[in-house]
Amino acid sequence: MAESDRRTHVYTPETLPELLQLCRRKPLASIYAGGTDLLRGVTKAEFALPGEVISLQEIEELRRISRTDRYLEIGAAATVARILHVGSSILPPAFYDALHAVGPPGLYALATLGGSICSVRHIYSVVPLLSIMDVRFEIRRQGHTRWVPASRFRDAGGAPALLEGEILTRVRIPLENWNMQLFRQMGAIHLQSTSPLILCALGKTAKGVLDDFRLAFCGSAPVLYRNRELEAELVGRKLPLAGREIEGFLHGVTETVARSATPLSALQLRRATSLTRVVLRQLGRPDAFR
Ligand SMILES: Cc1cc2nc3c(=O)[nH]c(=O)nc-3n(C[C@H](O)[C@H](O)[C@H](O)COP(=O)(O)OP(=O)(O)OC[C@H]3O[C@@H](n4cnc5c(N)ncnc54)[C@H](O)[C@@H]3O)c2cc1C
Repeated sequence: MAESDRRTHVYTPETLPELLQLCRRKPLASIYAGGTDLLRGVTKAEFALPGEVISLQEIEELRRISRTDRYLEIGAAATVARILHVGSSILPPAFYDALHAVGPPGLYALATLGGSICSVRHIYSVVPLLSIMDVRFEIRRQGHTRWVPASRFRDAGGAPALLEGEILTRVRIPLENWNMQLFRQMGAIHLQSTSPLILCALGKTAKGVLDDFRLAFCGSAPVLYRNRELEAELVGRKLPLAGREIEGFLHGVTETVARSATPLSALQLRRATSLTRVVLRQLGRPDAFR
């Protein structure tokens, strides 16, 4: 244990068992992965850290990345730079694009996948995509491990559903053959004045028919918009989709946002529907999104 100043204790466990034990003993301590979100807004003039901080930076096990035929497994403390190093031929293309949106490139060597997923303030760039990819998160506390689908990681208010003493340890991404993948981000996610919007879509098409389709988007509030019933209605349709099928889906998207307790601004909604229209029109042309 090191002591950084009178008020802040920084713990630097070197192994996963040590970390889990610390998390049990200090359930209210802040987890420090890359620190880029945790320290946002902290200036020299106003340097304030939480009272107790547990750093993940010395735990090699949490930085590991491995791959099988069926999935890619990424340690929660793997940095964006390390993940990008795996390469565009292995990473799913939309995930590769989403990683590039994790802040300015200077941040890639610090920001971690786990930090992007666990931020309380925002849904960050990679999150909507992970939630439609059937990704699962390994969540551990001392003596207990559970796997949670990415789509169920946040509660209704948008907060990460981590219990006291729990941390995110691994992210398992299935390597499925989505022959249509899209990630787009507009505006700066931290700045509501830029009307930010993150939208992603996945599709499987074969012989001119849509076999599977998923679409999700979010603004700067930690709320994800997705309508599985609308998606299911498109599955099995012939491509290209008819104009009325596209308009029906877009109407459903607008309704989904309007029904939400956290609606988007008019510009964010316009961005969401315009991008969705482009996606639906281009379905069946796999190269259209690259
Ligand atoms: C100017 C700027 C613009 C940015 N724009 C974007 C953007 O558009 N899109 C984007 O995706 N990112 C963006 N980022 C990066 C983003 O803000 C976060 O910094 C980053 O995604 C989180 O990385 P981190 O590893 O540093 O997390 P940290 O700051 O260390 O942690 C973030 C939160 O997650 C918790 N946490 C971290 N790891 C774990 C874990 N394993 N288990 C449990 N809890 C954990 C921490 O306690 C903290 O609450 C931007 C950053 C800056 C500075």
